[in-house]
Amino acid sequence: MTSSAGLAPVLWIAVALFSPACLAHGAHVHGVANVELVRERDSVQIQLTADGEGIVGFERAPRDAAEQAKVDAARSRLRQGPALFALPAAAGCRQVSSVAEVPHAGAAEAAGESDDRDHHHDDAKADGHADWKVSYVFRCVRGAAVDGVDLAGLFGAFPDITRAELQWITDDAQSGAELAPGRSRTALVVQ
Ligand SMILES: [Zn+2]
Repeated sequence: MTSSAGLAPVLWIAVALFSPACLAHGAHVHGVANVELVRERDSVQIQLTADGEGIVGFERAPRDAAEQAKVDAARSRLRQGPALFALPAAAGCRQVSSVAEVPHAGAAEAAGESDDRDHHHDDAKADGHADWKVSYVFRCVRGAAVDGVDLAGLFGAFPDITRAELQWITDDAQSGAELAPGRSRTALVVQ
């Protein structure tokens, strides 16, 4: 009894470490975003992965100017990390970079985004699912004050995203949470 109880936390940590990869390679479900948050000292890195259906309503190359405009608007909005992921004000975090990987972006390079890099990939299959991936880096005055995150902004901006699987790691703990509109916040402490 005592030995198995002692073993359990180790197994649990192993499962938690492997679960992001499992999620990434699991069944593709529409409207579910995967969010990985890593807080290391005064730096917070967030990686968002979401399907095209949840972001713009389609998972193929834009067919006309209106769809292209929708993609461009979504990309611009996705790069505004602070509007999507609310970190505690006491931490004094600001976004220092955001990089968006937009499926099917191809030659349709948007103008006026010279402040940062956008990586565009043409390798998404025309008949397959295509994920949007956005990486954010925040620098904080007091990283230790980042004791929670709220995704209300993300759900508000993209109503077709109805669930988010969050995995988080801080300097001293790691866990995950399933978030949704109406319960969009989680504390970054092991409950
Ligand atoms: Zn899909």
